[in-house]
Amino acid sequence: MSDFDAITITEEAVTALKSFQLPEDLAFGKVMAPVMIECTYNQGTWSEAKLVPYRKLTLDPTCKVLHYAQEIFEGLKGYHTNGAGPFLFRHEENMKRFNLSAERMAMPPVPEKVFNQGVEAITSYCAHLIPKKSGDSLYIRPFMFATENNLGIKPSEHFSFLIVASPSQAYFSSGSVKVLVEREAVRACPGGVGHAKTGGNYAASLLSMINAKKKGYDQVLWLDAVTKSNIEEMSGMNFFAVYGDKIVTPSLTETILNGITRKSIIELARHQGIEVEETTMKIDDLLADIKSGKCTEAFACGTAVIITPVDTLGLASGETFPLQHEQGPISKQLRQALLDIQEGTGDDPFGWRKELTPKV
Ligand SMILES: *Cc1c(COP(=O)(O)O)cnc(C)c1O
Repeated sequence: MSDFDAITITEEAVTALKSFQLPEDLAFGKVMAPVMIECTYNQGTWSEAKLVPYRKLTLDPTCKVLHYAQEIFEGLKGYHTNGAGPFLFRHEENMKRFNLSAERMAMPPVPEKVFNQGVEAITSYCAHLIPKKSGDSLYIRPFMFATENNLGIKPSEHFSFLIVASPSQAYFSSGSVKVLVEREAVRACPGGVGHAKTGGNYAASLLSMINAKKKGYDQVLWLDAVTKSNIEEMSGMNFFAVYGDKIVTPSLTETILNGITRKSIIELARHQGIEVEETTMKIDDLLADIKSGKCTEAFACGTAVIITPVDTLGLASGETFPLQHEQGPISKQLRQALLDIQEGTGDDPFGWRKELTPKV
């Protein structure tokens, strides 16, 4: 019955898919597909991985994840906007990063086949639920958390690995974002967990996000924790500045999440003859360069937001640094080139996408 030798497709899941009505207004990450992949780990052994109906979880109040935040996740998309497909984009990179996050958080690696085929199976079985407008997608969320029940501060010996999926519209409804430079709080410090996709990093960022929203901003730009002078990234996106026909981004450190979108943009830009520089980026230099007009565009990038232009950087003092271009030509060109690969409307010179067969 299945192309997926590592995933058992249950009849109940297929029934749930057949009777599901997709609402009209999807937004992003709000409507969940009626199925999920589920698999558990108990003292060294992984259970069979299954596609099952989406359901609520039952947790003991002492479940370790609720107290000590032993948890990791990934975010990736299935695309089905062009008649062909559905397509996945570099999902094996997500698998590798997931298992690096697992190692840092003292969790067992998920078997590669279970992760890869789990993502493929949920995408194939939900193909008919993926909205078809360019920029829309099936947002796929693999995650793992500690399920051992007791309050001792020790690594858990029991875990759940799940993959859920959300038919979604574009992440930002407006075309660009306003970004507040965060000079007080920090997101990640050397020796910490900033390079892992673990929930605590996001919990730690939310207070700054609230303060930024109060001042009229959409996002926070984090600086390094030690000198508070070098740009790192946003809470869920990497950062680029454009200088004429060159793009510049902070070099990767252990306090920056190694974005697959970031990495792909670097390769794609070089392929298109755009110069790319990975370097230490001083926030004061960037602000001066925006003022003088040397820096012409800036953008945020990540799976969810693709490439989203930054229209203004601002400081808590109220000083603002509007970019010349609210949606500059380089951001636009790279966004379209990336989407063409992801959505299957253009060539795929790097072999980044995988086409799947719809199953329901
Ligand atoms: C997920 C994430 C990114 C973007 O990574 P992609 O692989 O491009 O989606 C960037 N920064 C942080 C903190 C993230 O969590």
